[in-house]
Amino acid sequence: MASYDYDLFVIGAGSGGVRASRVAAAHGAKVAIAEEYRVGGTCVIRGCVPKKLLVYGAHFAEDLHDARRFGWDVPDCRFDWSVLRDNVLAEVDRLNGLYENTLNSNDVEIIRERATVAGPHEVALASGRTVTAGKILIATGAWPVVPDCEGAEHGITSNEVFHLDKLPRRIVIAGAGYIANEFAGIFHEFGSQVTLVNRSDQILRGYDEQIRDRLLQISIAKGIDFRFNAAFQKVEKLADGSLLIHVTGCDPIPADALLYAIGRTPHTRGLGLENVGLELDDRGAIKVDEDGRSGCDSIFAVGDVTDRIQLTPVAIREGQAFADTQFGGKPSRVDYGCVPSAVFSQPPLAGVGLTESQARDKFGNVKIYTSDFRPMKNVLANRNERALYKMVVHPENGKVLGLHMIGPDAPEILQAAAVAVKAGLTKQAFDDTVALHPSMSEELVLLK
Ligand code: NDP
Repeated sequence: MASYDYDLFVIGAGSGGVRASRVAAAHGAKVAIAEEYRVGGTCVIRGCVPKKLLVYGAHFAEDLHDARRFGWDVPDCRFDWSVLRDNVLAEVDRLNGLYENTLNSNDVEIIRERATVAGPHEVALASGRTVTAGKILIATGAWPVVPDCEGAEHGITSNEVFHLDKLPRRIVIAGAGYIANEFAGIFHEFGSQVTLVNRSDQILRGYDEQIRDRLLQISIAKGIDFRFNAAFQKVEKLADGSLLIHVTGCDPIPADALLYAIGRTPHTRGLGLENVGLELDDRGAIKVDEDGRSGCDSIFAVGDVTDRIQLTPVAIREGQAFADTQFGGKPSRVDYGCVPSAVFSQPPLAGVGLTESQARDKFGNVKIYTSDFRPMKNVLANRNERALYKMVVHPENGKVLGLHMIGPDAPEILQAAAVAVKAGLTKQAFDDTVALHPSMSEELVLLK
């Protein structure tokens, strides 16, 4: 049998890579993981976690305002970006340390340098060393796309947004997907003037139409500006350091910051994949089979670099399944059905299963049940913001095909309800459950 330096060499210490390496090591494999930036990956270092903390921080703007209606004598409050930013970054440092400890305690060797694929069993390190491994796992994630226009370098991406020196008074956000809507909510709550610029006339493609329309209406009512069907032409930096952003179909938009949120592309460039003839798709993603195996037998890939579902929990499951299958003698595959997802906008939205239009395409005449209500808390707060819950049901067998919601705590509620949808329960099963009163989630068992 060939002998290698490692049983497994993982490139990229993000969610998928860390899970795969620590589980493989726990199964007895000799594992090394290379990371050129920080252990934890996008989710922990510059994505889900710091973003969610900013979402919490931003929501205080509404809570402090509404508290007065609940009898609290709230003085005029001032928000200090640098305090929140530094506390969030300190929390990121703490989590980064925990991730490193997990790897160390599982005897995974952390190699803090860039690694590229040099052969089916060979990895070249930036220091000039080459190591060998029985299997190589690529878990390099994805990278924010920057538009190809004059002056594009004056904008920032989600990589930089957590480190801003100061809060922009005016911010333009390119795109209308997850990141754009989440940061539109964050900056708006902090008091910035926010303009979202998107190439089409839709936000959050892939989510249920009625739910995204509700977010659009609420966002517009709050004062977030939207420019649709607008392509970037030029970004000008003015003498005072501010920006003038030229897009098609409207006057140039003055801004203090420009954030690109126009998708994330699989991070495969410069990885040496040509050395093993790996096939990439037209977005640059590594093509893999159901076991995460690439066209080269000894090379596997998990997470965003495969561009299946760009979500952390999916990458983690893919890493776990890879390690269990290849090193634990427990073959397993990820089930991609009914993966719940959420957008942490203000208010947040969440969904699982088929949207109404997807269900109609598949089954024809589906049944739709909704509850369009003003949460009790919003009523007393004089906040004219309505929640919307929507259930898509199979026309014959009554099974819930999809559940979609927008409103306070929608992601928290949806995660629990997703268990029922995933289990294939019927609308009747929801109706048979007694309401928990008074709550917002009771609407789920009272849908008409
Ligand atoms: P999204 O894919 O969510 O949205 C991309 C947006 O940019 C769309 O509005 C799209 O327009 C537009 N767009 C795409 N390509 C271009 C282009 N070349 N030029 C101009 N506009 C373009 O991407 P994000 O960057 O917001 O997020 C990346 C991924 O990260 C998400 O897909 C998601 O999987 C993940 N993520 C998940 C989060 C969560 O779970 N809460 C939070 C943040 C990110 P159109 O649709 O009109 O074509």
